[in-house]
Amino acid sequence: MNANFLQTPIDYLKGVGPNRADLLKKELGIHTFQDLLNLFPNRYLDRTQYYKIAQLQQTNAEVQIVGKITHIKTVEQKRGKRLVATFIDETGSIDLVWFRGQKWIRENLKLNEPYVIFGKTNYFNNSFSMPHPEMELLDAHEKSIRSAMQPVYPSTEKLGNSGITNRVINGLMQQLFLESKNNFAETLSKPLLEQLKLASKKEALFNIHFPKSQAHLARAQYRLKFEELFYIQLQLIRKNLIHKSKIKGYTFDKIGENFNTFFSEHLPFDLTEAQKRVIKEIRNDLGSNAQMNRLLQGDVGSGKTIVALMSMLIAIDNGFQACLMAPTEILSVQHYTGLVELCKKLNTSIEILTGSTKTSKRREIHENLENGELDILIGTHALLEDKVKFKNLGLAIVDEQHRFGVEQRSKLWHKNEYPPHVLVMTATPIPRTLAMSVYGDLDISIIDELPPGRKDIKTVHRFDANRLKVFRFIKDEILKGRQVYIVYPLIQESETMDYKDLMDGYESIVREFTMPKYQVSIVHGQMKSADKEYEMNRFVKGETQIMVATTVIEVGVNVPNASVMIIESAERFGLSQLHQLRGRVGRGAEQSYCILMTSHKLSTDAKTRLETMVRTSDGFEIAEVDLKLRGPGDMMGTQQSGVLNLRIADIIKDSEILKIARSYAMQTLKADPNLSSEENSAIKNTYSQLVKYRNIWNYIS
Ligand code: ADP
Ligand code: MG
Repeated sequence: MNANFLQTPIDYLKGVGPNRADLLKKELGIHTFQDLLNLFPNRYLDRTQYYKIAQLQQTNAEVQIVGKITHIKTVEQKRGKRLVATFIDETGSIDLVWFRGQKWIRENLKLNEPYVIFGKTNYFNNSFSMPHPEMELLDAHEKSIRSAMQPVYPSTEKLGNSGITNRVINGLMQQLFLESKNNFAETLSKPLLEQLKLASKKEALFNIHFPKSQAHLARAQYRLKFEELFYIQLQLIRKNLIHKSKIKGYTFDKIGENFNTFFSEHLPFDLTEAQKRVIKEIRNDLGSNAQMNRLLQGDVGSGKTIVALMSMLIAIDNGFQACLMAPTEILSVQHYTGLVELCKKLNTSIEILTGSTKTSKRREIHENLENGELDILIGTHALLEDKVKFKNLGLAIVDEQHRFGVEQRSKLWHKNEYPPHVLVMTATPIPRTLAMSVYGDLDISIIDELPPGRKDIKTVHRFDANRLKVFRFIKDEILKGRQVYIVYPLIQESETMDYKDLMDGYESIVREFTMPKYQVSIVHGQMKSADKEYEMNRFVKGETQIMVATTVIEVGVNVPNASVMIIESAERFGLSQLHQLRGRVGRGAEQSYCILMTSHKLSTDAKTRLETMVRTSDGFEIAEVDLKLRGPGDMMGTQQSGVLNLRIADIIKDSEILKIARSYAMQTLKADPNLSSEENSAIKNTYSQLVKYRNIWNYIS
């Protein structure tokens, strides 16, 4: 079947007039024959089974029965008439009931002829009835190519009200298959079909719309899911390859004095294997002549900073500048102090630029950036201002990327004649399957190992009723010289309520932990930033033992002596937030604890979240659970990525197929980057059509 046939406007299909065409376009986005063909059913009614009336159970969903109508009558009711037909088989009888369209039905129903009926049953007064059954004469039923597994297509209220029922769509689909003679072109290559033992395109399309059995359906679904994911991966990987071949980057082939001196003399600790591997990956990228575009994922505390620094040293050794951008002032300052400390014996100049940098200092920084005196600039969004001009920016690092939009990132890119290498770091683990789809065009490095000697944080779940015990535990820890966080949820919509919870909590803590023995800090979003900083600092310096706070402490604070994290109303936090909060403790040498406090009222999802936190501290495992609970829609970055526009595959349930599809897409492009071989001609055709009609690149970049 040639492509032209499939591009025929839907108006030309027999059975589709201008009105229906209009509705199909507006309601389901069906403009062409191809669009209709790709309208895949949401579910199937199993019509392989036939019931006898005597077998009916109240628990049946939809049932199918063969029998005949012996009698029809109209029953008058207070609320209007209904039409009731007596339907019998050898085992009993039920009533078929219509409230609408009674005239037409009465005129068309045939008495004493074998019918197949299908529908939901109601049970009332010891007998079954079936309202508005689907009916077909047994004769026609047997001839129909409509299959035993009956597809249920996506629909809308408007379609239903305009008479475009599921049955009508099904009829149109039959018409389409009739006109095309099911002669649909193959869209995958022979070797792929053979290696994976996939159903052919024809077979798959037929069985997705008219499956003869569960087994036929499963085979069709597998093939179509594979195909969908394969083409997405093909586009992502090809984009990455094109990027690498087209976007030239500075080649940093020298591993020079700064890097070497730092590595051999000033490393404060041995690098973990994961850190070494990631630094190598980055070195390879920087040494090639393509621009690096890499995502570095590593859990809180996995040691991304040192990786960032060593990458920047490579840039400096090759005569370039580097910058590191962080989402908040606190984080920028922390990076700055940390890096200055690490570099104190090196001959590098480092500065920090944020919203609160004084004008004179700002001017000096601008100047030194432009004349090349400054090697490393750290800061917030302030780095993106137009006045900030680098002499030769070679590497831009972005920490916690999900707080930066794509536009802002590209702004950094265009500071210079050629784009700098880009390293994006995130502590929010993204499940691999999602990363493959959302960031499939980026290169990804993962630090999947924590530095040695970290004690696992003991995590427990306690009910509010045990609060006194928890207080006693806090006192014990404070007696040992430790500090404690107590965190309250603050969720925008109910801010006043949450604020009250926080203040109530604070007061009860102050009552329990009395001065002068105990000192309690409080920090929340409604405080002036000077006050926040003052309170924060008291805690950092160890002047207070307890920090009562909202989630403002989620990012940025580093108090190694704090060893207890109490999370109040923990059921109200999302998994990734709980994980981030827990990451605030366990930074020192002491055993740390995380206590999740909740009431007894817990939803199933909340229970799963709490159990997951108690069971594991592996950020990737937590992210997988989070993805399963929330679905991809809520995960970062998925909105733009098109992963939600999947027709048939499901990013969570079909993650195995996704992995296979990605590896085959990779293999295909490695062997034949331009898909120019005879063998790949079907793939090339499909691919170029896809790019033409539904360019997913737009969603992604
Ligand atoms: P994150 O990945 O959260 O940014 P950091 O880079 O801030 O983590 O590192 C967390 C802490 O672990 C820091 O105090 C850092 O000095 C320390 N650290 C990093 N790597 C190692 C290592 N290989 N061995 C020991 N300590 C390390
Ligand atoms: Mg960090």
